[in-house]
Amino acid sequence: MEINTYSTWLEIDLNAIKCNVSQIIKITGKEVMAVIKANGYGHGARPAAQAAIQGGATWCGVARIEEALALRRAGISCKLMVLGYTPPAKIPDAIDQQIIVSIFDPDLTENYLDYARINGAKLLAHVKVETGMGRLGMLPYEVPGFLSDIKGTNIDVTGIFTHFPRADEPNSDSTIRQMQLFNDLLSNLEKQGLKPAVVHAANSAAVFNFPESHYDLVRPGNAIYGMAPAPSMKLGSEFKPALTWKARITSLRTYPPNSGISYGSIYVTKKDERIGVIPIGYGDGFRRVDGQQVLVNGKRVDIVGRVCMDQCMLQLDNVPEAKVGDEVVLIGKQGDESISVDEVAERWSTINYEVVCGLADRLPRIYKE
Ligand SMILES: *Cc1c(COP(=O)(O)O)cnc(C)c1O
Repeated sequence: MEINTYSTWLEIDLNAIKCNVSQIIKITGKEVMAVIKANGYGHGARPAAQAAIQGGATWCGVARIEEALALRRAGISCKLMVLGYTPPAKIPDAIDQQIIVSIFDPDLTENYLDYARINGAKLLAHVKVETGMGRLGMLPYEVPGFLSDIKGTNIDVTGIFTHFPRADEPNSDSTIRQMQLFNDLLSNLEKQGLKPAVVHAANSAAVFNFPESHYDLVRPGNAIYGMAPAPSMKLGSEFKPALTWKARITSLRTYPPNSGISYGSIYVTKKDERIGVIPIGYGDGFRRVDGQQVLVNGKRVDIVGRVCMDQCMLQLDNVPEAKVGDEVVLIGKQGDESISVDEVAERWSTINYEVVCGLADRLPRIYKE
């Protein structure tokens, strides 16, 4: 890999994303919509999309139309869907760029139709069904009437989907109930000749826990980046984490006893202590919490004192060989040690999703094939 001149950076293993997608295709035997919203879960939307497509994904899913438009500008030409709300005024862009929107509200759809009529072309849409997520979606009983009303208009409903809030709990009754509701609706639509062509429901958790939810297409996000969809779930060893976060030691000195380290001097040296500085902080999406560790020379070291906006300090007494310029790993492997996104998430009392989505734009992303 190229020598870089950065003081902190993310290394993204595109081959990992590619392999993770092919694993999911192997497990499900279905088409994959790679979910690359929120800048590809912090990994970089365009490279993540390209890698997922190389791994066999035939669709990409995002949360907002702006994300979809940016992918089109970046040359991503696969089937592309907005999973969240699209403002009516953006419908001409969606039509123009062949972006599939989600429809979940008949009134809003009327608005979309007005724009689609002006444009004169067909808007592609998937209808979202509320089966228990409590978020976006039409109730199952509303769907048949809606679909029959929309026939022959400028909106072409090519798919139907739902979403699970508890697929990380294996055998959860609520997920099974959701599938029953969804299946009942699908057979009802089938009988009336109203069933849209593409049916989908499974997020990463459902890919692993609910094979009956795979339908025509699965919609994994987290798993394609090599992260488990919940703290209670573990991915098989065939899945590889795509992200490593590194920094270099920018300063190192021995402080005498009783020296305060960082804001508030909440850490005070007890003896002569070797304290190193790394140029990352909460401005990079690294949280300002106590009791954190990073890897230096394959060993775990403590972050001491408060995390600043752009920097934090390391206690390096157990790494006497450490020197300015050495690589530090915040997330990833170094020697025999590793720090997972899950470990960081636990320190921050959150989930791995939030850790990677919070990685700041100012962090350079270096892509490895
Ligand atoms: C984010 C999202 C996904 C992907 O979820 P993961 O848990 O990351 O696999 C799938 N479907 C919808 C509707 C989403 O919003």
